[in-house]
Amino acid sequence: MASKEIAKIDQPERSILERYVSEYPVKLGKLAKDLGVAIKVSSMPTGISGQIALEGNQYVIRVNRNEARERQRFTIGHELAHFLLHRSIIDSSPEGITDTVLYRSGKPERIEYEANRLAADIVMPISLVEKELRESFGGIVTEDTIEGLASRFEVSKAAMEIKLSNLIEA
Ligand SMILES: [Zn+2]
Repeated sequence: MASKEIAKIDQPERSILERYVSEYPVKLGKLAKDLGVAIKVSSMPTGISGQIALEGNQYVIRVNRNEARERQRFTIGHELAHFLLHRSIIDSSPEGITDTVLYRSGKPERIEYEANRLAADIVMPISLVEKELRESFGGIVTEDTIEGLASRFEVSKAAMEIKLSNLIEA
């Protein structure tokens, strides 16, 4: 947990989130349930990765069933981030927020950057990634490290590569 977005999350939701980032792969289904959000793997048009909307009085995340599981996990993280950070935007439209494959929604770009940063923290908690990098790979980033960490955290290699490059720059 490292991004400045974490600090913007209200209690008690921040505490719920913090309970889930101590072991990998992060249990996204249970996390969503504890936050009161339903997840539905759904048929969605090509080019759409996910959506979060208030349906009745239930927040529902839909993820595109045709995308890879690792991709679906990042999308769930991204939609959960919208839920935690941008609820008023979700509430202001019956369709909530719908994200393309580039995680663009027609909403301000700033909110998509925020959601992507928090999503990366949710699915690849920094302290866990650092620990695993050190203990299993001697702190050295190679192609094998990226692949090994991506498979442990059930994320795409591309996502883990970005995470590791941010970590090294930090
Ligand atoms: Zn988004």
